[in-house]
Amino acid sequence: MTLNDLQAGDTATIQQIHGSGNFRKRITEMGFVKGQAVSVVKATPFKGPVEYRIMSSTVSLRRNEAKQIDVSVSVAEEEAQNNPFDPVFKNRPGNSKDTPEDRKISIALLGNPNCGKTSIYNRLSRSNERVGNYSGVTIDSKEATFTYNGYEITFTDLPGTYSLSAYSEDELIVRDFLNNKKPDIVVNVIDAGNPERHLYLTTQLIDMGVQVILALNMYDEHQARGDKLDISTLAKIIGIPIVPTIGKQGKGVYRLLNRIIKVVEEREPVIRHTHINYGEELEKSINRIERDLEVYASELEGMHLRYFAIRTLERDDYCLHKLSNLDGFEQIRPVIDDEIYRVEQLFKDDSTTLIANARYAFISGALKETYKKGKQDKALSFSQKIDRVLTHKYFGFLIFMLILFGMFHATFSLGQYPMNWIEAGVDALSGQLSRWIPGGIIQDFLVDGVIGGVGGVIVFLPNILILFFIISLMEDTGYMARTAFIMDRVMHVFGLHGKSFIPMIMGFGCNVPAIMATRMLENRRDRLLTMLIIPFMSCTARLPVYILIAGAVFPEQAGNVIFLLYLIGILFSIGMALILKTTIFKKSEAPFVMELPTYRMPGMRMVIKHMWHKGVLYLKKMGGVILVASIIIWALGYFPRNVEYSKDYASLISEKQHLLEQIDTPESGTLMQHSETSEALSGEMNSLIVAMENEKQAASYIGKLGHAIEPVIKPLGFDWKMGVSLLAGFAAKEVVVSTMGVLYQVSDSEENTVSLQEKIRAQVYTNGPLTGQKVYTPLAGFSFLLFVLLYLPCVSVIATVGREAGSWKWSAFVIFYTTFLAWFTSFCVYQIGSLF
Ligand code: GDP
Ligand code: MG
Repeated sequence: MTLNDLQAGDTATIQQIHGSGNFRKRITEMGFVKGQAVSVVKATPFKGPVEYRIMSSTVSLRRNEAKQIDVSVSVAEEEAQNNPFDPVFKNRPGNSKDTPEDRKISIALLGNPNCGKTSIYNRLSRSNERVGNYSGVTIDSKEATFTYNGYEITFTDLPGTYSLSAYSEDELIVRDFLNNKKPDIVVNVIDAGNPERHLYLTTQLIDMGVQVILALNMYDEHQARGDKLDISTLAKIIGIPIVPTIGKQGKGVYRLLNRIIKVVEEREPVIRHTHINYGEELEKSINRIERDLEVYASELEGMHLRYFAIRTLERDDYCLHKLSNLDGFEQIRPVIDDEIYRVEQLFKDDSTTLIANARYAFISGALKETYKKGKQDKALSFSQKIDRVLTHKYFGFLIFMLILFGMFHATFSLGQYPMNWIEAGVDALSGQLSRWIPGGIIQDFLVDGVIGGVGGVIVFLPNILILFFIISLMEDTGYMARTAFIMDRVMHVFGLHGKSFIPMIMGFGCNVPAIMATRMLENRRDRLLTMLIIPFMSCTARLPVYILIAGAVFPEQAGNVIFLLYLIGILFSIGMALILKTTIFKKSEAPFVMELPTYRMPGMRMVIKHMWHKGVLYLKKMGGVILVASIIIWALGYFPRNVEYSKDYASLISEKQHLLEQIDTPESGTLMQHSETSEALSGEMNSLIVAMENEKQAASYIGKLGHAIEPVIKPLGFDWKMGVSLLAGFAAKEVVVSTMGVLYQVSDSEENTVSLQEKIRAQVYTNGPLTGQKVYTPLAGFSFLLFVLLYLPCVSVIATVGREAGSWKWSAFVIFYTTFLAWFTSFCVYQIGSLF
């Protein structure tokens, strides 16, 4: 019987695991080992993935993966107990570590995904790294240096990893860090709610012989559940100091630091170099390989040979590869093969599993004496209750859509109020400046260039903060992991992994970290494919354009239009995945092994800090690329000054002015006539000014550029100003808005400052066949929004794709295919729409 045959609610004991080596290894690390009890929590619709409960954690697997796992429903308790590997601890004299004379300590944070490493890191280093209740949040190592008690401490936060055998790129980062950087101390963060599984990594660290301290994190939940852990005894057994911490609240983190210093100063009595005893037969093999390594692989000097022996025995590719570069490899290789063959014959199981089982046996032996699980797990049952609704067969998807819908409506409508205040502030500022600074190039530069551009974008700051706030909430509660679970089935149809959906959703914030987050995907093709479709996920930089244009063209429906755009983005990315999968990337499957974290109350402090941090980044962008782009656009629109007008505007205007002044003298005409003519006259004068400005702009460098690209953009329903804005948007999408701010500022007569949205609404064609018609018809506006959604991502995204994909060809590919797709889509929408 296999795991797949179980029904929701069933419990069984694992017997054997089939399938590819990678899959077996991966699943073993998640706790799927012989003798473990596993129960079925629930399944998704249409034969999608199934949630399983194992070793106090929830893991989801696809059905054909569950089929690879043999289980039995009633297995005698003693089978699990009759393990051949009795945990016996061997003592070894401590190889004393020199106290660093230069008082520098390098510390690395290591642990399974989602155990709170980044929370601890942030507390200690006072940083704002991303925290989220799902795996794969930290994708790159982050480093901070600070001084404490006279020590210069370098702290490194690493991506989460279940073991030291790397499968995905983020795990590779961890392994390489340990091997190359050799930190003085590794802080192994473990989730107190699931020590059985989290200590697996610890056993590997013990094998490796590195100096470890355990941070027993999530201690608050541990206490709330009423779990009992005899910390000091466990510490003695494994020979590693253990410090309880609550990363989210920052409790215990300084105790952890003090303990680290105690270890460095060799004042820590608990430290004892233990060995994990792998049982008589495996130990024989390990010792034989170790002896041979000592003889033939002298290059490995200073390395922990036992570690290499164990890793090669469990067929670790990385260690084998490292050994293969050594001179003595020919002598060693047959010994390794021989020993693997011997133990596999003896135990009728593969060596990888044997070693993993022995590690788990060590852990359960150590915990047997020290750990007692509390009676009730409120958080867990609460999580399961919520999940009954949120990952429900049919409602799950619906609820997810509703949440997205609510998110964009909130972003638009809640943001409206602070947006108006900022807008008023910006207007007041430009009004004041116009009054203080005499007319001329300086005034034009400041009012039209700087404030017109930057001010146009800054008003969207509240919207962006709201969006980030909601995304942070989704991440921190644990809902984000569920979206991957819900979407796996859909994504699977399109040849993608449900996990791909997490980077995609992260793309709503910013595409750059989203593309980096693809590192958590185990399959390179999936990774590349996901990278190529992420640009269709609307990042917050596109939000200002959406709000501006949707608000101007569809004032009543703006929230819906924005939601629609995000949906279209998702649809395009999925559609592209389908196309790419059948053309460039041929089908290949990666196992869907994903942990579903328990729901947690979000750490409000972190969420708000994170939002604040995003706000600061946005403001910095404003002072950087957006300011520079605005100035360039302004200058290109301002020069050349000696324009040849079609009419003599100057004299026409002064003529009107003269007439106006004449009427203003009270003697002539009746009062009634007076006001009518004066109104008409000033109207005429204004339109003369606007016409002159327009002509000047058209004759400027930017106008010439705009007219040059007109043939390309006209079929899409855009005028030259829209075209120029899109062109400027290459630098960053917000620049589309700032460019509009600059371009539309010019034709504005000084006193009646109206919002950019109103200016856009009032735009009419001033020449050509469309003269007098509105530029932003609903159709043209929508076509423009689609173009902004789809066309090439900003420079940083293009660079990130090149770096992560390892080839600039992919950057070029992204530039061309997105832009072509944008043009083609807008063309179809505008042309077909124009027929009606
Ligand atoms: P990482 O993946 O190991 O870096 O973990 P994070 O630091 O991103 O934290 C994962 C989740 O656990 C976040 O939702 C945190 O708010 C939460 N968290 C971190 N430490 C604690 C803790 O001590 N107690 C509780 N209850 N939650 C925590
Ligand atoms: Mg992290």
